[in-house]
Amino acid sequence: MKVTSAEFVISAVGPKQYPTDGLPEIALVGRSNVGKSSLINKMLNRKALARTSSRPGKTQTLNYFRINHRLYFVDFPGYGYAKVAKSVKQQWGKMIESYLTDRKELRLVVQLVDIRHAPSKDDIAMYDWCKQIGLTTVVVATKGDKIARGRWQQHLKVIREQLQLRETDSMLVFSSETGQGRDELWGTILKYINT
Ligand code: GDP
Repeated sequence: MKVTSAEFVISAVGPKQYPTDGLPEIALVGRSNVGKSSLINKMLNRKALARTSSRPGKTQTLNYFRINHRLYFVDFPGYGYAKVAKSVKQQWGKMIESYLTDRKELRLVVQLVDIRHAPSKDDIAMYDWCKQIGLTTVVVATKGDKIARGRWQQHLKVIREQLQLRETDSMLVFSSETGQGRDELWGTILKYINT
């Protein structure tokens, strides 16, 4: 998709701050350092609209980006960051849970996992959670440029098996370095915001 406008709207700490214009929302989730900010910047053709790993896992907010006045990316706090206090983790859980469960505008969850590693417990828990709620997920294997293309399938197989990827969900390889997967991910997103 041609991105003609992309703007940061708000770091929301709760539902009262979520936009009220009814535009469809795409949630982006993944553990800290997985490459989420880099992916957002690449998708939006911006160098630094979403910040890259300065303070991993510290921001416990939902960050809204409005794109082409047509949809929102909702950037989730990175999970699985050991140094976050337990109380913060619990708060994180509540906000995320209510967003995922109640947010009518949510069309698709983009879940990022590092292509090099088997999914973590947190990755599996997040995926299972979305399935229980009945959300559709596209799993994005990040940092594709870090392993040889000939080994992608082998790594995707591990991710698919460990997550027990549902047939209705899809998976793709992404690289913020090369732009691999960008068009495919936009294709998937557009499919879900148009329905
Ligand atoms: P976040 O914490 O999930 O937002 O992760 P960042 O986007 O900040 O990325 C974490 C680190 O991984 C940074 O050093 C990025 O430069 C690097 N990184 C992210 N995506 C890619 C990628 O596609 N390829 C490579 N080689 N490095 C990446």
